[in-house]
Amino acid sequence: MTINQIVRNTVERLKNEGKVWTPDLYAEAFCLEAKKAGVKVEDCQGIDRFTSLMDKKTLDEVKQYRVKTTAELVRFLISKMSRLNPSEASILVEVLSALTKTIAMSVKVLHNRDASALAKKTITLIESQAGKTQIDLLRQAWENFLSVYDDSFLEKLSDFGEVDSCNLKKTIEGLRVDVGSAQTGDFTRISQLLIMGLSPSIAPKLDDKTAVLMEKLHDNPDYVSHKEFEKEIKTAIAMRIALDKQSVEEMVKALDELLGKLSAQLIDLIERSESSTTEIRDVKRDLEALESDKPKDFKTAHKRLYAIATTLEEKVEILSRDLRSHNAKVTEMGEKIATLESQLAVATQASKEDFLTKLFNKRALEESMEIKEAEYVRYGRNYCLALLDLDFFKSVNDTYGHEAGDAVLKAFANIFKEEARVNDIVGRFGGEEFLAILGDTELSGAKTFGEKVRMHVQEAHFMYQGQRIAVTVSIGIAQRKDYPSLETLKVGADERLYSAKHKGRNRVEA
Ligand code: GH3
Ligand code: MG
Ligand code: MG
Repeated sequence: MTINQIVRNTVERLKNEGKVWTPDLYAEAFCLEAKKAGVKVEDCQGIDRFTSLMDKKTLDEVKQYRVKTTAELVRFLISKMSRLNPSEASILVEVLSALTKTIAMSVKVLHNRDASALAKKTITLIESQAGKTQIDLLRQAWENFLSVYDDSFLEKLSDFGEVDSCNLKKTIEGLRVDVGSAQTGDFTRISQLLIMGLSPSIAPKLDDKTAVLMEKLHDNPDYVSHKEFEKEIKTAIAMRIALDKQSVEEMVKALDELLGKLSAQLIDLIERSESSTTEIRDVKRDLEALESDKPKDFKTAHKRLYAIATTLEEKVEILSRDLRSHNAKVTEMGEKIATLESQLAVATQASKEDFLTKLFNKRALEESMEIKEAEYVRYGRNYCLALLDLDFFKSVNDTYGHEAGDAVLKAFANIFKEEARVNDIVGRFGGEEFLAILGDTELSGAKTFGEKVRMHVQEAHFMYQGQRIAVTVSIGIAQRKDYPSLETLKVGADERLYSAKHKGRNRVEA
């Protein structure tokens, strides 16, 4: 049997077994066929055993192409057998090795549909022992593919870990490493990355749909391979962007408000500051500009604020010193205000006081009557007015002089006050006329009060320059509930007083 016969049998065997032709397989199949043909081969290594079966021309070619191993010999012989032209065979070996190299390179880094289609076509062509032109076209197709193939996604992947672009398998294996729980699915790592990617980076909250999807991914990483997943992830991503956008808008608005407040405060501070350095004026100008020309984004706002803050930092000492002196001024002003307030209180008191008797004056009495009236209207608390008028007082003046009259008025005021209760209001209504406002008092009680005063005055020793001046008082009393209004009550009390005078003075009429 010639060697060509053995090669033919080898090719037949490989075809029957449906094996892809690799050099090792050639050698293995060739050895089996050789043994079958009775060639004595022990280890099938080395080509010496076969060279004796070759004609001289073939042997020369084997030497020329430096065929060393059994695998190389088989490949050489198959080529030679298919194309009897030896120069074509050598070209074919070159083309095949170039192609194989290209495929090997491609398969190393590629894993997409186009690549696998080309690989399939390549295998088919090799199997059908296609001619040089077809294989060249295929090689061209591979080269085209490689030149347009975009592997930049590998760069993107590298954000999530180490990527070895020469070893995609390693990268993919890396991606499949479970970062979380123990029960790992193939998609665990990917779904973890997606969960991370879906979490809004700015917005503090998630929308419900995204939250549900994230939960689904967390519980079942394989969901990544489901049909509905693509649609859901698109919606979720859109939602995430919308949330982040909304969040950014809100934050810009909040920042804007903050800037507004901050600048208002700082401008105020600077205006109050006595320091008027250029830097401070610059800060003020910047802040005002910030107010009128509001920044649209964080970056600008941040830049401007940073510039302002830097200047302010340098000047903050001056500002705080000014503020301290300002505070000192405020304290001083506060003290002045306190003094003025106490003076005002004294003045207010004085405005209610009768200068001669130190009793309430007419204004205070009018105010008090208004209060009692209001209490009567609201709570029905009855009150009485006792109107007092010193008898024949003109003659006191005429007899003892005006000074003596004043002294009597003062003395009378003391008696009047002494007889009144703490919550009775007693005052001088004018001249030698006095008024008592008796709260929560019925007519009988008021009458008793009036009588006590009348008696006390009658018995008192009004002394002036060693002389006793006889003084009496007439009193007219009326209670609120007997009258329709405060005004009529006043008239009523006056009428009673007139009546007391008319009836002989030194008496109480109620
Ligand atoms: P009647 O018993 O009718 O009340 O007689 P009267 O003299 O008291 O009454 P009239 O109204 O005629 O006189 C009141 C006098 O009171 C007139 C005035 O000289 C005197 N008088 C009023 N206010 C003062 C005052 O503040 N000091 C002194 N000393 N006298 C006063
Ligand atoms: Mg009078
Ligand atoms: Mg009088």
